[in-house]
Amino acid sequence: MPVWKQQPTDKLNYLCDIPDCHSNCPTSRLVALIGRLLRLRCGKCNHPYRSHSHSRYVWVPASDTRPSADEGRKQAATNDKKNAEALIATRKRAFDDLNRIIGESMDDLARFLAEYDGTSLSGSFSVHMEKASRLLEQRYTDMEKKGASKEQLRKTRDSLGLMERKLVLLRDAEKAQET
Ligand SMILES: [Zn+2]
Ligand SMILES: [Zn+2]
Repeated sequence: MPVWKQQPTDKLNYLCDIPDCHSNCPTSRLVALIGRLLRLRCGKCNHPYRSHSHSRYVWVPASDTRPSADEGRKQAATNDKKNAEALIATRKRAFDDLNRIIGESMDDLARFLAEYDGTSLSGSFSVHMEKASRLLEQRYTDMEKKGASKEQLRKTRDSLGLMERKLVLLRDAEKAQET
């Protein structure tokens, strides 16, 4: 048999006071008053209105407030699944960003991406991102040497900064997965 307790609530509630009833029977004061005067029974729990009282409490099963060990495990499994999904979503976003960066005419990165199967977003994705980041850095150095325009250099620098921020996020996400 569940253990019941009263929990504070914002709304005014109409509680049944019959032992072992523990019914919450929200009713307006007017209906409750008429019900009391006419000695009617509550439509919800079928006990007399007279055995009810208005209060700012609700009956809740006390066991509901503390999750059982089994529920705790279930919750942990759900959290794990959510974390895994979040990691995949982060990887996908990083991958999309990568695609966009590469779309800005970076042949070497495009080649790298052709080698990398974008659908297998498992394992350490940050390793792939690091490789891409290094290629981008190399590209930047080459561009500097060849005298690229300030605008081109700025674009590449922005891309590098974005990649680095993504890498930090990915490493953190992957670390969280391992622990
Ligand atoms: Zn009732
Ligand atoms: Zn009742």
